[in-house]
Amino acid sequence: MSKQGKLKIIPLGGLGEVGKNMTAYEFKNQILVVDAGIMFPRNDMLGIDYIIPDYEYLRQKAHQVVGIVITHGHEDHIGAIHHLLNDVSAPIYATPLTRGLIEVKLARHNGSASKAMLNTVQAGDTVEIGAFKVDFFHICHSIPDSVGLGITTPAGLVVHMSDFKFDHTPVDGWPTDYAKLAELSKRGVDLLLSDSTNSERPGWTPSEMVIGPAFDKVFTEAKGRVIIATFASLISRIQQVADAAAKHGRKMALAGSSMVDNVKIARKLGYLEIPDTVLVSLDQALQMQDHKVVLMCTGSQGEPSSIVGRLSAGTNRQFDLKSNDTVVLSSHPIPGNEETISNTINRLLRRGAIVIYDSLAPVHVSGHASQEEQKLLINIVKPKHFLPIHGELRQLKRHGAIAVELGIPESNVIVVENGQVVELSGGKIKLGERIPGGYVFVDGQSIGDIDYDIMRERGKLARNGIFLIDVTVDKLNGRLLHDPEIITRGFVSPEDAEEMIPEVRQRIMSVVNGGGWDNEKDIVNAVKSYLYEETKRRPMVLVTLSKG
Ligand SMILES: [Zn+2]
Ligand SMILES: [Zn+2]
Repeated sequence: MSKQGKLKIIPLGGLGEVGKNMTAYEFKNQILVVDAGIMFPRNDMLGIDYIIPDYEYLRQKAHQVVGIVITHGHEDHIGAIHHLLNDVSAPIYATPLTRGLIEVKLARHNGSASKAMLNTVQAGDTVEIGAFKVDFFHICHSIPDSVGLGITTPAGLVVHMSDFKFDHTPVDGWPTDYAKLAELSKRGVDLLLSDSTNSERPGWTPSEMVIGPAFDKVFTEAKGRVIIATFASLISRIQQVADAAAKHGRKMALAGSSMVDNVKIARKLGYLEIPDTVLVSLDQALQMQDHKVVLMCTGSQGEPSSIVGRLSAGTNRQFDLKSNDTVVLSSHPIPGNEETISNTINRLLRRGAIVIYDSLAPVHVSGHASQEEQKLLINIVKPKHFLPIHGELRQLKRHGAIAVELGIPESNVIVVENGQVVELSGGKIKLGERIPGGYVFVDGQSIGDIDYDIMRERGKLARNGIFLIDVTVDKLNGRLLHDPEIITRGFVSPEDAEEMIPEVRQRIMSVVNGGGWDNEKDIVNAVKSYLYEETKRRPMVLVTLSKG
């Protein structure tokens, strides 16, 4: 079949980072969006709740978006939907569980639920969405009901493999649809996009089966409560905990609204099988004997605002840590979170808990394909071109190298980061334009108003503290009316600050009364240079100037 037209592949998120996945496909003024996720902030992104993709490109062409396809229900794929729906009105396509999780999310953000046009698709369906014919097929991951996509346009066939692993014994007993991959392969795949998360990991990712025995051991040895932390959307893990609870005669309770809501919808739709006799409310669980209880909660990344974060700090409201608790962190650190997690583990240990995490016992397996699975995918699909997605640059590069090892010509492997458009036309691939592909920070109610300058300021305040100076000058002759008032916070000890204040006053007076100044900045600079001489630190210096 001859190829017609040009398909643009527009990576808006997830390429060059872990999180906020979003890819757009554009053919003849029609745009199909795949996924709309969030990313969790790094340690140095102070005060940021989460980050969403910069989808300005979609905002500009909002009326051209014909559909939003969501591959699975993890936050890094659905978390930004309610933001996207504020700017783009298009039908959403998702499998039943993914749809359910999207509905839970939308319900929490009043207003966006009514705008959403949700369509349920089943793995195995083919749906025409504008110029795009989309084949949805089942893939294994750490959440049930995940799909890969075959996207057919006149310009060619693209296979979009979102997060996947080739697990032959998944928790839900539903392996990847290899036959569909083979069928797509037979049709001739022009471009394969594939999950790069574990491209640095040799071998195969272990099956989720291995967690069963690890949980057995934990449940057998735990003398008191078992507290298991994972992501609220790691539905498969929640099933495994429920199974272990049933087997070991413990009752399971869920802490945290996201966990409660997700479990409710997944049970209703039949993706979680937890007998009513196993599940109890948190209040009930807290009344029971410790060795009869397992609590599931969030906070496996050590987030301070999560339940485990608060337990480690002794600030959780509903219940506190007990010395015979066993805390299991059932997840792998997201890059950048290692330090926070390590601190959390230390704090939990200090408070007397037994802590089990993935380097001590296989209480977590990755939901992402390792190298041998990535190779198997490429060998089944036999794509003409290859574009690694879902990973930091080093992971994308490694994945690209794997494709070359398997015989895909180097010129047909294209490694790009967010914002670099790729074009497929005439059966060939090339780089297109560059568009914005950065971060949009969400901080409470404010979206996108926070930028790096503000974060740098927050960092500076956190590191070096603040020095406040109140200056009142005579409006006629510009001389000081009284001694400058000075307050410092977080800079040096109050005693040390006290010692410096006379000299600071002296410097302010000589600048102001000497007349060699135009505005507050000159005072700030004079004070700053002195403070740096004395302490080798640069606190934030703020001067308020009034005229009397
Ligand atoms: Zn995922
Ligand atoms: Zn993902």
